[in-house]
Amino acid sequence: MAAHPSVLVTGASTGIGAAYAERFARRGHDLVLVARNTARMEALAARLREETGVAIDIVTADLTQPADLAAVEARLRDDARIGILINNAGTAIGGSFIVQSTEDVAQLLALNTTAVLRLASAIAPRLAQAGAGAIVNIGSVVGIAPEFGMTVYGATKAFALFLSQGLSLELGPKGVYVQAVLPAATRTEIWGHVGADVDTMAGVMDVEELVDAALVGFDRREAVTIPPLPDVEQWNAYQAARQAMLPNTRQEHAAARYRTAD
Ligand code: NAP
Repeated sequence: MAAHPSVLVTGASTGIGAAYAERFARRGHDLVLVARNTARMEALAARLREETGVAIDIVTADLTQPADLAAVEARLRDDARIGILINNAGTAIGGSFIVQSTEDVAQLLALNTTAVLRLASAIAPRLAQAGAGAIVNIGSVVGIAPEFGMTVYGATKAFALFLSQGLSLELGPKGVYVQAVLPAATRTEIWGHVGADVDTMAGVMDVEELVDAALVGFDRREAVTIPPLPDVEQWNAYQAARQAMLPNTRQEHAAARYRTAD
C-alpha cells in the first residue's frame, strides 16, 4: 500500500467529516468524499485541491439508500488506492423513544449502523489481504451512557464501539488498524437536527480540535480515542472491570441468587 493511501470519508460535506477531509488533504492524502450534498463537497474539494494539490473525487450518495450504499461499497472493494475508511456519516434525532416514529429510528439505524457495518465489511478483506490500512468508526460517548437519554442514538454508537473493538482484535494481527473515536458534544450542525441550540450549550468542543485530537490517537494507533476525557485511566479501569467479569460468565449453573424461590 502507498505511504499516503487515499482516504474515503463519509459525511464529508460538513462537520467532523469535512474536518477529517481537510486534515488528511493537508497530510498529502488523496480523498474520496461521500455525502448527499454535492455542492458542499464540490466547494470543499475545490478549496482543498487549490490549497493542497491532492486529488479529490466526490461520490454523491444517500447511505440509507441501498443502491447508493452499494456503489460506495463497490468503490471500497475495488479501488486499491483507498487504504483508509473514515466511517463518519451519522445523524441523531430528537425526542424520547415513545415520540420517535418507528420509521425515523429505523432510518437512524440504517445510517448509523447498517452503513457503517457494510462499508467496513466492504473494505476489510482487501485491507487484510494487503496487511495494511485503517478503519475509523466515529462513535460517541453517548454510546457508553444510557443515562444521557438518547437511547436509540446511543445504541447505534454502542454498536460502533463494539464493532470497532471486535474488529481491532480480529484485524489488528493482520496489520489493519481499527479505531473508535468517541466525541462528546462538538460544534456541528448535528445539534440543529435534534432541535438543540449548540450556542447555548456548555462544554462544546470545536470540530477542528476534536479531529486533531482524534488524529493524535490515530497516529498512536489507539483502539479507542475519547478526545475530551481528561484521565484515560478512567477508560482503562472501565475496560479492566469488564474484562475481569468475562471469565465468570461461563458457568454450568445459574448464579446462587437465581436458585432460591424468593
Ligand atoms: P453533521 O455536521 O450533521 O454532519 C453529518 C454528515 O453526515 C454530513 O456530511 C452529512 O452530509 C452526512 N450525512 C447525513 N445523512 C447522510 C446520509 N443519509 N447519507 C450520506 N451522508 C449523510 O454531524 P457531525 O457532528 O459532523 O457528525 C459526524 C459524526 O460524528 C456522526 O456519526 C455523529 O453521530 C458523530 N458525533 C457527533 C457529535 C457532535 O456533538 N457533533 C458527538 C458525538 C458523535 P449530507 O447532509 O450532505 O448528506
